[in-house]
Parts: sequence; structure tokens; C-alpha cells
Amino acid sequence: MRQIDHFIAGHSGFTPTRFGEVMDPNNGGVQAKVAFGDASVLEAAIAAASAAQPAWAATNPQRRSRVMFNFKALIEKHMDELALMLSAEHGKVIADSKGDIQRGLEVVEFCCGLPHVMKGEHTQGAGPGIDVYSMRQPIGIGAGISPFNFPAMIPMWMGAVAVSVGNAFILKPSERDPSVPNRLAELLIEAGLPEGIFQVVHGDKEMVDAILDHPAISAVSFVGSSDIAQYVYSRGVAAGKRVQAMGGAKNHGIVMPDADLDMVVNDLCGAAYGSAGERCMALPVVVPVGEDTAERLKAKLIPAIHALRVGISTDEDAHYGPVISGPHKTKVEGWIQTAVDEGSELVIDGRNFTLQGHEEGYFIGPTLLDHVTPDMESYKEEIFGPVLQIVRAANFEEALALPSKHQYGNGVAIFTRNGHAAREFASRVNVGMVGINVPIPVPVAYHSFGGWKRSGFGDTDQYGMEGIRFWTKVKKITARWPDGGGDGSNAFIIPTMS
Ligand code: NAD
Repeated sequence: MRQIDHFIAGHSGFTPTRFGEVMDPNNGGVQAKVAFGDASVLEAAIAAASAAQPAWAATNPQRRSRVMFNFKALIEKHMDELALMLSAEHGKVIADSKGDIQRGLEVVEFCCGLPHVMKGEHTQGAGPGIDVYSMRQPIGIGAGISPFNFPAMIPMWMGAVAVSVGNAFILKPSERDPSVPNRLAELLIEAGLPEGIFQVVHGDKEMVDAILDHPAISAVSFVGSSDIAQYVYSRGVAAGKRVQAMGGAKNHGIVMPDADLDMVVNDLCGAAYGSAGERCMALPVVVPVGEDTAERLKAKLIPAIHALRVGISTDEDAHYGPVISGPHKTKVEGWIQTAVDEGSELVIDGRNFTLQGHEEGYFIGPTLLDHVTPDMESYKEEIFGPVLQIVRAANFEEALALPSKHQYGNGVAIFTRNGHAAREFASRVNVGMVGINVPIPVPVAYHSFGGWKRSGFGDTDQYGMEGIRFWTKVKKITARWPDGGGDGSNAFIIPTMS
């Protein structure tokens, strides 16, 4: 059986004692085994990182950025290979896998310009003969812990920024689709990155805990579910590290009475069901404003949902593929039952869906629930499957309150032709990322990504300038160059005393 190893000091290997199983979402069953590491594996990665990082940090920024240019070209060259590898383990269709890689690639492109964004600030003459300036320096050795749902994009969000500013970076990717991160590590070596600067250690909680406790790791970036994010944040901060931890989501799409409903339906089909709903920026809740809007929307949604095609990840005509695992399929179907038991209306039931020839695959048909209310558990929690819930609101204020009061605050969208309503919504809603007639408002790579409330712990976002801030520390220098006259005119005066 295929075995996926750690990638340490430029090579894959290390004799594992424990393994995890990588499932085949299209067909069920195990397709590979992945090494599960422990503190001793991490120690080997730390040793390689410590040996390599000082010289990498001292490499001038143009040379570091050239490695990013090379890496960008290699990802483009290997796009098809990476997408196939990603789809085979995750289950998302090839077009979605290419999107996953592309959004990571855009962060690599941002990092090609790092010499510019690494520049510090300078004040001449802050006092008599005194200049004050600042410089950004790498934090040293950092770690990233990533989820299964974007196995290319999220490692690049963290890793590309971390290494391009001069750090060594150790990635602990999801154990459920671990092959793409290893391939990215190989491509970085081919791009000219020194061995030991980008490494991959595989594993479960044991490896995560080893990372959180290791004194040589100065910063940890985590993306995953909220309970684990909170745990990682608390334990990492208690160990004195800088931590950012992005969590789960329940994003709402507000549909105003004047919205273009054909556009909304098209957007919802992609945003609620694309990638089988396994996106932290999916739109699993739609909030039509007014009963008339709700009925008109529902009438258009039903045939559009019936037209969606579920297929294996290499089916070019499929809108989405299987979910990640058997237990996850059971969990999502359990939430559908809970929603029914809580009194919502099951308009389209995606349970008991089978794909001919792939009966053991983890497929769920698109599901639509109406008359969902804020007190229901199925509304409060993240389902992370191809399930769309309609929560009806009587007016704008009621619609605005729903995402604002929800425990998660990752993304939200409003669909309207009314600029005033959109502006009012964007400024008042208590959510981190807002789309105006944009269903999945993931900011481009030169802005930053991050949710609020239980969707994000810590105070910096991913990539863009926020990412640069997270992966660097600022040194502030106050310099005085007296003229050496010796007549007392160079006596130092503290500015507040003069
Ligand atoms: P997850 O929380 O199960 O796993 C994330 C990482 O944490 C993995 O590397 C995993 O090995 C590790 N982990 C799992 N259990 C752990 C434990 N008990 N202790 C320590 N580490 C542990 O998340 P997932 O199922 O891989 O990914 C889906 C979740 O990620 C969803 O909740 C989704 O909303 C969220 N997500 C959030 C964002 C964001 O930016 N906010 C982006 C993508 C995904």
C-alpha cells in the first residue's frame, strides 16, 4: 500500500511507528497510509530548521523572492498533477482542486513582492541628531496546522508567507489528505529553497501537542474547527507563543426583496453545494427578507438544486463529489435528521443517495431545509455538508441580527440592488468578511483573510499585510550620532524633559 512519510531536511522518510489511514472518498476503503509522528520526529525537524534558518534569514530579500517566483512557475507546471492528487484524497472535483491550488498560488505571487512589504519605517531628527527606525525580522521557527478541506491553499497561506520573510516553517497538515503538502515541499526544494526551511510532519493530536509545547517554535498558525482552534490558541499562548487560530463557520446569505433572484440561485448552488459544502466560506444559510421573497426564491431554487449533478471527483460534468469520510457522511446525515426532528421542513432530502458503480463512496445528495429558526441546534452548529437551510426574516433588521448574533462570524453576503442597504449592512454586521452580491467573499491575496467570534482566535489574519505582521517581529532602533565636538553641546536630553 502507498505510504506517505514526513518530509524533513529535504527528504521524505523517517521510520514511523504509528500510521493513519487515508480513505478513498470516491469508492470507500483505504487508499494509503500516512506516518504519524511524535515528539522525536518533531525534534528532527526542529534540528534541521535551526541549522538552516539563520542563513536563510540572512539571504537578501530579492533572492528569497526569486525562490517564490520559481515556486510559482513550478506550481503552474504541475497544476494538473497536483489537482488529480488533491481530488483523489479530498474528493472535490478537479475544477475545485484547481481553484484550491490557484488561491494558494496567489499568496505565493504576493510573496514574490516581499522585499517591498518587508521595508521598515524611518524618522529623521526625532530629537537633536537622533533618528528612529524600525525593521521587520523573522520570528525564527514557525509551525502551521491545517485542515482537510483546502490541502493546497491553506498550507500556502501560512507557509509561503512564513518562509518568504525568512523563517523556517514546519507544517502539520490534515492526516486525511496529506499527499499534496508533501509534493509542495518537494517543489519548494526544486525552486531553490534550502533544505530544512519548509518541512512537513504528519500526525494527529500527539504531533499537534508536541508542536504547541516545543520551546523552539515561536509562532503557530492553525486553521480547522472551532473547538480545536480554541484549544490550540490557549495551549500555544500558555507556552508563550504567538498564535492565530481560524475556526469553523456558518455563513449567511441575506436576500433582499430587490435582489436578482436568478443570480442568487446560481450563486447559492455554487456556494452552498460546491465542494460538497466543505468550505469554511460556504453559504449554508440563506435568509430571504419577507415572505414574498422567500416563496419566489424557493420556487427558483428547487429546480436548480434538482439539476445539480453529484459525481466522482474526476467527473468533469459533476458539480460536486463525495464528502471526506464515512463518519463525516454519517454526521451530516445526522444533522439533517436533527433539523427534521426540530421542526424544519425537509424540501429536498439528499440522504440515501447512491452513485452507480461507486456505492461505497461517501456521497450525499443536495439537501434543502426550509422554516429553520435560530433556536434550532442544526442552525447554531456547523454542518459542513451539501445542506442549505432557509431562515426567513421579516425585515432588514431581523436579517442583519441573524449573522451578527450567531456564534460564528467568518463570512456573510448580502444580495441587493440597493446601495444604501448594502452599505448599511456591511458597516453594521458583526462578521469578519462581507460579500456584496458576492457569495464567497474570500479576500484576494494582497488583502487578508480572517473571521470574527468563534471563527477566529488571536488578533491577526492570514496572508496579505496581516500575514507579514504575524510572521515577523518589529525591531525599533533609536540612534544618535554625536559630532564628537566635546564641548557639551552633544549632551543627551530626554525629549520629555526639555
Ligand atoms: P479539524 O479541527 O478536525 O482538524 C484541523 C487540524 O487539527 C488537523 O491538522 C488535525 O489533525 C488537527 N486536530 C484534529 N483534532 C485535534 C485534537 N483533538 N487536538 C489537536 N489537533 C487536532 O478540522 P477539519 O475537519 O480538518 O477541517 C474542517 C474545519 O475547518 C471546519 O470546521 C471548517 O469550517 C474549518 N475551516 C476554517 C477555515 C477558516 O479559515 N476559518 C478554513 C478552512 C476550514
